[in-house]
Amino acid sequence: MSVKFDDWSITEDKYFQEKINHSETIFTIGNGYLGTRGTFEEYVPSEIRSTFLHGIFDDVPVFFTELANAPDWTELEIFLDRERFSITDGRILSYERRLDLKTATLRRNIRWESPKGLISTLVFERFASLDNTHLCGMRVKISPENYEGMIEVRSGLNGSADNLGFKHWDWINQGTTNHTAWLDTRTHNTNIELAIGVHQTMQTETRKARTTQWDVHNHPSLVTKMIVKPGEIAVTLKWVSLFSSREIKKPLSLCRRTVKGLANLDWDTAYKAHCSAWQKEWDRCDIIIEGDPEAQSTVRFNIFQLLIAGPRLDEHVNIGAKTLSGYGYRGHSFWDTEIFMLPFFSFTRPDIARNLLSYRWHNLPNARRKAFQNGFQGAQFPWESADTGEEVTPTWVPDQKDHTKLIRIWTGDIEIHISADIAFAIWQYWKISNDSNFLALRGAEVVIETARFWATRVEWKNNLNRYEINDIIGPDEYHDHVNNNFYTNAIARWNLQNAIKIIEWMDENHPQTWKRLSKSIKFNDKEINNWQQIIDSIFIPFDEKTRLIEQFEGYFSRMDVDLLALEPRTESIQSIFGIEGTNATQVIKQPDVLMHMFMFPELYDLETVRANYVYYTARTDLTYGSSLGPSIQTILACRVGDPAAYEHFMRAARADLFDVRSNASDGIHGASAGGLWQAVVFGFAGLHISEGNGKWQINPVLPSSWTRLAFKIVQNDRIVEFDIHK
Ligand code: BGC
Ligand code: BGC
Repeated sequence: MSVKFDDWSITEDKYFQEKINHSETIFTIGNGYLGTRGTFEEYVPSEIRSTFLHGIFDDVPVFFTELANAPDWTELEIFLDRERFSITDGRILSYERRLDLKTATLRRNIRWESPKGLISTLVFERFASLDNTHLCGMRVKISPENYEGMIEVRSGLNGSADNLGFKHWDWINQGTTNHTAWLDTRTHNTNIELAIGVHQTMQTETRKARTTQWDVHNHPSLVTKMIVKPGEIAVTLKWVSLFSSREIKKPLSLCRRTVKGLANLDWDTAYKAHCSAWQKEWDRCDIIIEGDPEAQSTVRFNIFQLLIAGPRLDEHVNIGAKTLSGYGYRGHSFWDTEIFMLPFFSFTRPDIARNLLSYRWHNLPNARRKAFQNGFQGAQFPWESADTGEEVTPTWVPDQKDHTKLIRIWTGDIEIHISADIAFAIWQYWKISNDSNFLALRGAEVVIETARFWATRVEWKNNLNRYEINDIIGPDEYHDHVNNNFYTNAIARWNLQNAIKIIEWMDENHPQTWKRLSKSIKFNDKEINNWQQIIDSIFIPFDEKTRLIEQFEGYFSRMDVDLLALEPRTESIQSIFGIEGTNATQVIKQPDVLMHMFMFPELYDLETVRANYVYYTARTDLTYGSSLGPSIQTILACRVGDPAAYEHFMRAARADLFDVRSNASDGIHGASAGGLWQAVVFGFAGLHISEGNGKWQINPVLPSSWTRLAFKIVQNDRIVEFDIHK
């Protein structure tokens, strides 16, 4: 473990070349507009340098579309008396990198001896302003210790930034003036223009450096240099401004105008505004845990990840499964947003939740198209979604273990519960925010259109006198092409029931809006009778005697595996048994029946929860299955009083910081971060909002070391504070 933490910071006190990609992920900074991985300013071998901006997708083979890695704004090449500063050469005399969560600032402090024996101290700071999301700032202080020499800092805007070798950017134009350089570039297929400008200066306490420009094609650069003596500090200030055609018609002219103005911007003013914007976020969203320092800092770290990913000013984007922090899943969004991350936003930052849900509403046309193409009515949302809301799940991917083979990915075809998950999230948001305006004007349409999808996707089985949903994948992806997955059937029924409730509510409270909507979607009242029949007779398995729910038809007769007997292991069950091998067993990747119990606590008595908890926990690949599992498992464990709750919680808390699945280099596990917030609030605090009257109650079951747990939620625009003491 190279990472240490205290209440408000994550620190790395050694440089490990082998772990750099993991560190880059956890040292990501962002502001809900962009996210920049924690690569060093100077280049390092095998780094994964990336800045992603929400919504800037471009076409790519296999994955259809991916977030395009933007020209890097952090690049700096430093020459100390003509020797290149490089962390892989010379000697590191001291090193510390620290992410300050309170102010979303990344700092690196390094004392370095060059191959020729020159010793310098370098302090790097960077932030992506939360006060002005089109502004990023960087400051570098360099002081020579045992020499007097030329300190030179070159910074460029590299237009040939690529996505792991794949290029997305076409050069449009560039330029340099006095202290500024700018680059105008465009994504190859989606034609999104991005203009980036920098303003750079360097000075000591008494002198200013000269700046020269290198207008190299597709890499305009600025060079600042001056002779510095021991004891003096050369301070480089770099301001960056970014605008894209997603926000404004002519991004370049705004960018150039802004960059010009940056000449008058001082660090303290801009940084202070940024810090106070963060202070507001933390005032609203922080969780205080006393008695358990690790839980405190890991929970804050995960909340931080949600806050830097949440789009504040844009309702046409969503959060990818790996946020804006890595290439995993190419920036695509899944149910991870609605079911795992969204509750955090709905309960603390409702305007961000509204943006995220509006994204789904804006993408209704493509969800309707997907339903239509598959022969159904209404709206079928894609399993993986990007800029347009078309299905972007890859159909075939290379087998990780044998690259000559391809694996068919079925999720985009048959993992269909996402449509109801989105409806559920809308309902949950409405219940807590009371945002009737959103429900009437946007949410209702989504819930009704997804209900229509289910009403045509179900199949009537005459011989059994019931509706079924067949040939699908439920939340547990270890089993595909199953029939009557309980979770899916149950949430489809919920979707139909709540569409009826919303129609009644609209009819009563917003008759004019309902009139308009029902006309535009050609709603026929007879549809409700049909829905009711499905609600009444869709197959929902339940064994009164054992109180067990069978995950899907035939699940109980699959091979039972003793997971404990396979310990210790370092791989998932699917990678040990293979895809087909795992499909033949009862081992599941993540909660499925338990997922439903977590989402609908009022539907189940304790005895039923306990019976299913015991049965399915023993069969869930909690260590190496899905990272979505442990937080949900924590909540169920809290409900049934299983002391293992804390262990599950810690697994979720450590997911990225400790790289427990060895894939944190692909980016932050956003669902795990969102699940962690829920594990604290719905699990350990036991917060429950009554479906009927909206009243909250808590039922705390704090881990033994916790002496205090405090957090806030926003209900109907009012802040409710919880402060639970042992
Ligand atoms: C995930 C699926 C996803 C697929 C393709 C798999 O690892 O489990 O949910 O659709 O990758 O991206
Ligand atoms: C999980 C899915 C999840 C996806 C993206 C998969 O491994 O099984 O539930 O949506 O990853 O995080």
